Amino acid sequence: MSATIAATDLAFQQCLNPDCGSTFEVDRTYFSCPTCGDLIDVVYDWDRVRVPRSMRDFESRWSERANPLNFSGVWRFRELLGFAPEGQIVTIGEGQTLLRAADKVGRYVGVGAGRFHLQYEGMNPSGSFKDNGMTAAFTHARMTGARRVACASTGNTSAALSVYCSATDFGFRAIIFIGSGKIAYGKLAQALDQGALTVQIVGDFDDAMQRVRQVADRLGVYLMNSVNPFRLEGQKTIMYRVLEAMRWEIPDWIVVPGGNLGNSSAFGKAFSELRTLGLIDRVPRLAVINASGARTLHELVGHRGLTWNDGRPDMASVQAYYDELDASGRKASTIASAIEINRPVNLKKCLRALEVCDGVVREVSDQEIMDAKAQVGSGGLGCEPASAASVAGAKRLREEGVIAPSDRVVCILTGHALKDPNATVAYHSGDREMFDHVLGIRGVRRAGFANKPVAVANDLDDIIRAIALYADAGPGLDAG
Ligand SMILES: *Cc1c(COP(=O)(O)O)cnc(C)c1O
Ligand SMILES: [Zn+2]
Repeated sequence: MSATIAATDLAFQQCLNPDCGSTFEVDRTYFSCPTCGDLIDVVYDWDRVRVPRSMRDFESRWSERANPLNFSGVWRFRELLGFAPEGQIVTIGEGQTLLRAADKVGRYVGVGAGRFHLQYEGMNPSGSFKDNGMTAAFTHARMTGARRVACASTGNTSAALSVYCSATDFGFRAIIFIGSGKIAYGKLAQALDQGALTVQIVGDFDDAMQRVRQVADRLGVYLMNSVNPFRLEGQKTIMYRVLEAMRWEIPDWIVVPGGNLGNSSAFGKAFSELRTLGLIDRVPRLAVINASGARTLHELVGHRGLTWNDGRPDMASVQAYYDELDASGRKASTIASAIEINRPVNLKKCLRALEVCDGVVREVSDQEIMDAKAQVGSGGLGCEPASAASVAGAKRLREEGVIAPSDRVVCILTGHALKDPNATVAYHSGDREMFDHVLGIRGVRRAGFANKPVAVANDLDDIIRAIALYADAGPGLDAG
């Protein structure tokens, strides 16, 4: 055998546009194609990658967890994202996440016992799935010698970026752009605590996104948003871990909230590559769930018939929709702040994923999101509002008969329950003023699964009476 091939020889970057198809070395830094401006993909020369013969071989690395690359739930699968030499990998132990059966939530959704699972990505070091992508993007940043790294964020991207700067020693400096007002405090707290330079601009996420791209261009700062194709390489591993936890059986459905559409794009790429490699023989269906207050994907795919069209989607119809949004002054608005995005940067890649996975798109209201979130809280590990869009979406699809009661369904819980405590407390507390202030302005009217604190005098008899009265009742007290 010849000497080990440098990993970078096995991967290259390629423009997504089939009419351009420009390719670039893997250690170059572009956030859009310099020829035509389209998105960029990381592509592998699979004939030369030494991929294990079976997915089970990755699992055997559990026994070598003293090796940080095997401990990582991302890099345990490193041959499937082999763009970096192993010595360059930046890992903080991400991807130690759980797939759990959740029958109680499954009953709410309407699927049978043992058929419903929650993939809990809130267990990542920064509390959201974003760490899966950050470890890969920071690895690429390190390969390219980048120091200043930036993102625009609704919160979790900045929290993840900040953690990778604060917890590593490669001289990275975090610069984050946030819009005015709408960031959940759990997330902002992380960025501030971890010492990120936090630039708050007057505007929303879509505005911040546009600015950070300009700043990245002008100052040569390394961009960590999901236009960065390396982010998506790391996020593919969420699907590998789901399959691993399901004993390598393919579920019928993967349901994921859709914001900038990086996750859904990454999932489609993961399955398409696994199928190409012969490591799976079937691809699950993908459901991408928008919030009604940020429904671009649903509008374009569900109502205007936008499709991947062999890499040539009708971008004129996309632009026409964006022009309508501008003309009417409509901004994204939802309690699910992590998906409060009207111009999803990975739209095209998501169309490809929908094609690969015979996917569907739906939107759910903030009311449905908050009710589903309460169900995830009382029947699982809890999650932030955006994550619960997946569960609300699964319920919708079940009611429509698109998902069958016997289907095996995996909903991705993208972020930790403690990311947005205000939304949770507003829902449960029964405090009308807080409810109206936090949820009412987003159109949430009822708290059908509220679990109110019980006010009792500081008196033992009263306390014992209250426990007798309420202890077996469980949640369900209506705050409205
Ligand atoms: C970023 C994020 C999303 C949206 O994911 P995309 O890949 O941008 O579609 C959903 N939920 C949470 C908690 C997030 O942080
Ligand atoms: Zn191009």
